[in-house]
Amino acid sequence: MKQNLIAGSWLAGDGASENRNPADICDLVGVFAQASVDQVDQAARAARAALAGWAGASPQVRADLLEAVAQRVLARKDEIGRILAREEGKTLAEAVGETVRAAQIFRFFAGEAVRVAGDAIASVRPDVDVDVTRGPVGVVGLITPWNFPIAIPAWKIAPALAYGNTILFKPAELTPASAHILVEIIHEAGCPAGVMNLVMGRGSIVGDAILSHPEVDAVSFTGSVPVGRAMAVQAAQGMKKLQAEMGGKNPMVVMNDADLDIAVSAVLNGAFFSTGQRCTASSRIIVEAGIHDAFVDRLTTEALALNVGNPLDPATQIGPVASQNQLEGNLNYVEIARGEGAEVIGGERLQLDTEGYFQAPALFLDARNDMRSSREEIFGPCASVIKVGDFDEALSVANDTEFGLSAGICTSSLKQARAFRAGSQAGMVMVNLPTAGVDYHVPFGGTKGSSYGSREQGRYAAEFFTTVKTAYSFAG
Ligand code: NAD
Repeated sequence: MKQNLIAGSWLAGDGASENRNPADICDLVGVFAQASVDQVDQAARAARAALAGWAGASPQVRADLLEAVAQRVLARKDEIGRILAREEGKTLAEAVGETVRAAQIFRFFAGEAVRVAGDAIASVRPDVDVDVTRGPVGVVGLITPWNFPIAIPAWKIAPALAYGNTILFKPAELTPASAHILVEIIHEAGCPAGVMNLVMGRGSIVGDAILSHPEVDAVSFTGSVPVGRAMAVQAAQGMKKLQAEMGGKNPMVVMNDADLDIAVSAVLNGAFFSTGQRCTASSRIIVEAGIHDAFVDRLTTEALALNVGNPLDPATQIGPVASQNQLEGNLNYVEIARGEGAEVIGGERLQLDTEGYFQAPALFLDARNDMRSSREEIFGPCASVIKVGDFDEALSVANDTEFGLSAGICTSSLKQARAFRAGSQAGMVMVNLPTAGVDYHVPFGGTKGSSYGSREQGRYAAEFFTTVKTAYSFAG
């Protein structure tokens, strides 16, 4: 059984949870100890005790640790990628790619650890100096979802460590295996006891205990909107800094002048790769009337030809849905879309050689933006196709959502591309690229119901993981 890491020791917990392969539920990926509330308390105290040492360590020490982690993750990318594909269901190529991404993030923040800058500002008083410096926020709780089981932990853990914070990390119940390997690597690479604590278990128990613990100064969360909203209330009560990255209902606009090859490929990738289980997935395809029929013909043919199968088979393009719950939810939305009057293409459950949660990609044609299936995040391989008359209508439909994570447009007109970039209310805008798929060294995040607090990733991560101190001195 894989254990929790608390104060530098691997400890059994309060019960255990099985992690099974969604492509083959007979395949047991591992058994993982569930932390008790008492262990969260021990981890929080250990993190507090380790804070002064880690915050005061030379930035070079932190950079060296992060670089060592990057190297070790890269050296084991195939092994980790295979476990990730087995626990989450994304294809092996995507899983290895995600593992490499995690290593790149650690390498990026190894550099950031020695680039922490401040300001020297002239005082309004004579002979007084004013210095603004950045230091760690303190003890941080990191709570992550199941859909990027190593990359999202990496993009929270790496900046937290780089800027001198100490950590309580709770991965998703569904996908603890690759997160556990990442923590093993951080521990083996020489992270001091108490700096990196792993507490696995259910959100309502372990996650809640992190959020309500008085020693936890800040929480960085990625997950669903309802959980994020409840956390914002809880964090405010405890006066904790909170960063919450949540859902999306991301639009991809296809204009009459789009290159059809680029548009079809961007939509197939954005809507269906990773089984549509990306917060940045394209789930509303907004198509101008003149290209609508030709585009829908091509899209339908190519979506139905996508190869759904076992993630470890190199021929597979779409793996299973991550869990039975998620599959049932997706199938329910297929029925909702049908009931609302959309023409449903695909979307049925597939029976393959192994018992798993396979689903054919689904397109909801002739959809309207006011349908439930066009407004609520499904988080599966399902996309609505909405016909519009012109650019202004496309932009208005794209923005007509409670979310604001990512938005895309396919067009060959620079004028339209610029107008979309300026008018889109999303935090990330893509031109002739899928709505999903981002770089690791630039800010990631959204607006409206999608994000709360400051951005993740790149040097913008410092806004969350550091706090500012203003120091005045007078030489006398
Ligand atoms: P979820 O909200 O159910 O769970 C996310 C994490 O929060 C898990 O670790 C869970 O155990 C924990 N949690 C649940 N209830 C909690 C509580 N009461 N207190 C504390 N912690 C709690 O989300 P999920 O199903 O794991 O992931 C899917 C969601 O994540 C989707 O909505 C998706 O859009 C979103 N997501 C967003 C981003 C982004 O960056 N915007 C990236 C990936 C996924």
